[in-house]
Amino acid sequence: MSEFEFIKHLKARLTHSAHTILGVGDDAAVVDCPAGEQLVVTTDTLNVGVHFLQETAPEDLGWKALAVNLSDLAAMGAQPRWCTLAISVDHANAHWFERFLEGLLALAHQHGVDLIGGDMTQGRLSVTITAIGTVPDGQAIRRDGAQSGDDLWVTGCLGEAAGALAYSRVGQLNLHARAADPSDEKLRQRLIRPIPRIAAGIGLRNLASAAIDVSDGLLADLRHICQASQVGAHVVFAALPHVAEDPRLGGWQAMADLALTGGDDYELCFTAPVTARAAIDAAMVTSATPAARIGTIESGSALRVTLQTGEYALPSVLGYEHFR
Ligand code: ADP
Ligand code: MG
Repeated sequence: MSEFEFIKHLKARLTHSAHTILGVGDDAAVVDCPAGEQLVVTTDTLNVGVHFLQETAPEDLGWKALAVNLSDLAAMGAQPRWCTLAISVDHANAHWFERFLEGLLALAHQHGVDLIGGDMTQGRLSVTITAIGTVPDGQAIRRDGAQSGDDLWVTGCLGEAAGALAYSRVGQLNLHARAADPSDEKLRQRLIRPIPRIAAGIGLRNLASAAIDVSDGLLADLRHICQASQVGAHVVFAALPHVAEDPRLGGWQAMADLALTGGDDYELCFTAPVTARAAIDAAMVTSATPAARIGTIESGSALRVTLQTGEYALPSVLGYEHFR
């Protein structure tokens, strides 16, 4: 399949919303930003061997490449609308592409996202997606608005995706096949098919003072909020919904490490004034998103975690970092 056959095939598969004036096929796409809204733009790359394994099913790769980008839009409170796809592959394989697109477009359709352009080159397998969303003027949720005294919240349950990876490393889980045990399969799905918290992010507009998506690990990402907002934070571990403890992974401490520093959760960590508690509870019910209050924003710059047994000793590396 040549590059041009691929583009023709792709074009035939795409549908567009009214905000897309011109999609795939010209030198560039043309879109209409709804009146009174601002564009929110993000890019993330997934590289083979760094972000995913060579054996990853193409459907799962397509899904995840878009999901990690939509998660960034969710953390801004944005409504996703468009995406572009730049992909490098070492050889053109029509069947592989079809499956890749199936995964990507399944998630795109769920959120009304139009694929409006991209590029295709030969090289080591790598996928870069740019996602574009919109927010009403001035309502994007940023990292720099947390205030001392704010509540600290997180959606969902942390450490499950990192748990799946940990199980696979000790030979307890095959990431590339459905697991027989339902709880193992749930962890595997958390890693290979993350679900971006779009509805929750939109519901947090005008409520959250700051937000970030948890992609590198809770503490690493919370530190970004603290640095941007010039505050500290106190996490009460007992309040944090986390992956189940399992002797196969080394017990309680290992589980706490997964929940606090494991990556790939794609949950939202956010802060909000105490007065917003009831409104946030209501917004989470409306968006069908579980959320928990896990601590407090403090003055200063320290990040600390209280465990049932005392203080958690923060590792020098709080989460995943490239070039380390
Ligand atoms: P140009 O050489 O002018 O950049 P291309 O041949 O790269 O054009 O692309 C032709 C059209 O197909 C463009 O609209 C481009 O956005 C789209 N396109 C190319 N590759 C992809 C891709 N991987 N995903 C989505 N659209 C693509
Ligand atoms: Mg091009």
